[in-house]
Amino acid sequence: MKVQRVVTPPLAANAYVVGNIMIDCGGDAEFILRYLSEKKLTKKVRYLLLTHAHFDHAGAYFALQSIGARVSVHSADVNIAKTSPVAHGMLLFTPVKPDVELKGGEVFDSSNMQIEVIHTPGHSPGSVCYYDRDRKWLFSGDTVFAFGGFGRVDLPGGNAQELISSLKKLIELDVERLYPGHDEVVEGNAHREIVKAYEIARRLL
Ligand SMILES: [Zn+2]
Repeated sequence: MKVQRVVTPPLAANAYVVGNIMIDCGGDAEFILRYLSEKKLTKKVRYLLLTHAHFDHAGAYFALQSIGARVSVHSADVNIAKTSPVAHGMLLFTPVKPDVELKGGEVFDSSNMQIEVIHTPGHSPGSVCYYDRDRKWLFSGDTVFAFGGFGRVDLPGGNAQELISSLKKLIELDVERLYPGHDEVVEGNAHREIVKAYEIARRLL
């Protein structure tokens, strides 16, 4: 099973395609449709799982719906998007109209993968991570990054204590590979990076 990473405009958020699932899609509909077409994935991608509803990760969601993919996002980010603040002249939260609203704890079963939804609020109220327990892969959105990085909590709906609790929850998981929402993928022993992020967040936040 191969994970394809695509760095998307406008803020270089990572999107991933694995099997018939796409995780995040960036904020530029034209860009992501062209990418999927060039990679001959337009007919293949059936599900879009959003890690959260910030515009740089979710803004192009409707493009995925237009090619028949079902869109999932946590209900807390759907709700905050209804009163979304504006940052740099753009809505910070994309007002996503999903096909499925998540609560956490769901399991997607597709393309011989089982992907668990783990609610990890802190960066946004509806941030989630997607976890493949068999492969020990974690798609972590803006909750945790490589090198012990973690998501900012100063945006509307952000919460430092919740982020720390979420990182603690992630430490319980066996994670080999980390596929974050920005910057580099961690190819091995990603658990160590999550522990590092937790320890730094606990001291700094
Ligand atoms: Zn974000």
